[in-house]
Amino acid sequence: MTDQAEHKPKLEIRVVPTTPLQQNTSLIWSIETKEGVFVDPGGDIDKLMGAAEEFGVKIVGVWLTHGHLDHAGAAAEVRERTGCEIIGPHKDDQWLLDTIEEQGARYGLTDGRNVTPDRYLEDGDTLELDGVKFGVAHCPGHTPGHVVIYNEPAHLAFVGDVLFQGSIGRTDFPRGNHQQLIDSITSKLWPLGTDMRFIPGHGAMSTFGQERQNNPFVADALTGYAGAATGTANEIDQKLAKRWS
Ligand SMILES: [Zn+2]
Ligand SMILES: [Zn+2]
Repeated sequence: MTDQAEHKPKLEIRVVPTTPLQQNTSLIWSIETKEGVFVDPGGDIDKLMGAAEEFGVKIVGVWLTHGHLDHAGAAAEVRERTGCEIIGPHKDDQWLLDTIEEQGARYGLTDGRNVTPDRYLEDGDTLELDGVKFGVAHCPGHTPGHVVIYNEPAHLAFVGDVLFQGSIGRTDFPRGNHQQLIDSITSKLWPLGTDMRFIPGHGAMSTFGQERQNNPFVADALTGYAGAATGTANEIDQKLAKRWS
């Protein structure tokens, strides 16, 4: 961490909102090689490919956090257009990836396609882009096969629909589990550090530290998490907390 070279950014990131659900698709690329990946390309394929083109990025991968259509709907088409690999989520979300077209019909979104990844992810796996390594945490609860992808040196995590600024993922879908989601957040995310910033599937960025203080679902004062952070939970009316799909 004290090595100067580690502070030189190697990767660039842009967030592109996709689908009417305003899902945050991230485009991450290497400044040097111009090779990049999409995290959760949910839809609007032309907008996504346009963004890649604008920055001169060659897409070499798609990384999926979970199988909901607003996150995975355009994955098959990105692979078709670029020949890239689709990696993730955990295999326990394949039943969702098999029903993207059905999910879309419920929202009136018809451009999503069912997809089978080239490789599933497991807890503890590593992803790589131009030598930069990303860790993988299996975080079930919103969906059974949800994964979070993070880069420790850059203090940045892609958390999909596990955690939001001031909220957590919905668990009222089939195979959702509220307690499992809370456990995933406190046991898999909090140990990554309070200064870890995160890009959620919807809405604004935040940090794990901020959520451990203020989040009306998972603040330390509510969950009893005994990690290193300090601070008390704000009294936010839970009914006011917005929850996303
Ligand atoms: Zn979502
Ligand atoms: Zn979701």
